[in-house]
Amino acid sequence: MSHRVLIIGSGPAAHTAAIYAARAELSPVLFEGFMAGGVAAGGQLTTTTDVENFPGFPEGIMGPDLTDRFRAQSERFGTTIHTETVNEIDFSSRPFRFKADAQEGSADSVIIATGATAKRLEIPGAGDGELWQKGISACAVCDGALPAFRDQPLVVIGGGDSAVEVASFLTKYGSTVYIVHRRDELRASKIMQQRALDNPKIEMLWSSVVTQAKGTDFLEAVRVKDLKTGEERNLPAAGLFFAIGHTPNTAFLNGQIDTDEQDYIVTKPDSTQTNIPGVFAAGDVQDKQWRQAITAAGSGCMAALEVEHFLAANP
Ligand code: FAD
Ligand code: NDP
Repeated sequence: MSHRVLIIGSGPAAHTAAIYAARAELSPVLFEGFMAGGVAAGGQLTTTTDVENFPGFPEGIMGPDLTDRFRAQSERFGTTIHTETVNEIDFSSRPFRFKADAQEGSADSVIIATGATAKRLEIPGAGDGELWQKGISACAVCDGALPAFRDQPLVVIGGGDSAVEVASFLTKYGSTVYIVHRRDELRASKIMQQRALDNPKIEMLWSSVVTQAKGTDFLEAVRVKDLKTGEERNLPAAGLFFAIGHTPNTAFLNGQIDTDEQDYIVTKPDSTQTNIPGVFAAGDVQDKQWRQAITAAGSGCMAALEVEHFLAANP
């Protein structure tokens, strides 16, 4: 199949691009991914609870409900959505040829909005075949309600918004939730920090790192090192949650698009244009600074408008 606009991704950037491209009568086709990068179609917001800072929802909205609405709005204006991952794409000539899980095709223009995936900490005991998914997770919303975590001590690693949000969420289930952070101040926004610091079930372990996950069939303890004193100790824990940031989903591009040293796509200033004419990037895959649903949506809008101009000039 040949398309005017191919949109790869399924978060706020991809769907905003789709809404704008569909309303511009460009008949966009959107590949939303099938557990691409380990995240469900809909992207990172499917892994969270209340979203309180997306305009239009004064009472807040659950992350998965917001992504369902994005999708419904894309479809309403005529976007064709496939629940497949794009695995390969060839940017050497236009139209750009691509291969997805069950089909292949070509497109005159491409918007890459594949977002980012939660990082895992590589420490002894936490790998696949060890205690990963046996008390260790990078998605508290997905796994936090497991019976094994009820009224047990839980550990969250990180110091950003995700870490404090995850910790606050886990207080519904755990007895105490420890936030282990490698520095002595949080990176999280002030309002989110305050909520965590005021929560009597959350305990901060400042300037500390987890060096090992311990247990036989399920997590039983983590080894925590105080970076200031050098002292190490075992901290009993039934759950360990990583909230240490994200990796952009750019591996499938196979080095054809310019990226920075952390693999984020580089776009031209004040633009979503990549180094390949006709290929645009929007959302967290090209943004390591703001990384919000609303900024992803904003850049998705920019990408669709830029595609419209590009196709008018390059039919
Ligand atoms: P993403 O949401 O990352 O989605 C991209 C998706 O594209 C992927 O997940 C995958 O499903 C799909 N995909 C990837 N590769 C491919 C491929 N090759 N083919 C097809 N599909 C593919 N922001 C806020 O503004 N407010 C909040 O309250 C908030 N809470 C958050 C809570 C958590 C726990 C996290 C992790 C993030 C939160 N954020 C929040 C940040 C927000 O979720 C992101 O900034 C936003 O989702 C980024 O959108 P995106 O469109 O760039 O991509
Ligand atoms: P961030 O990159 O903001 O924070 C990652 C945290 O993990 C940092 O505190 C970092 O420490 C720590 N870290 C990184 N690597 C390691 C490591 N190897 N060992 C130990 N600690 C490590 O990621 P987030 O996922 O928290 O946030 C991503 C984006 O999503 C942000 O823009 C955030 O605002 C947004 N978001 C918004 C929410 C909201 O508004 N409700 C909720 C959740 C996320 P250090 O600080 O020392 O670098």
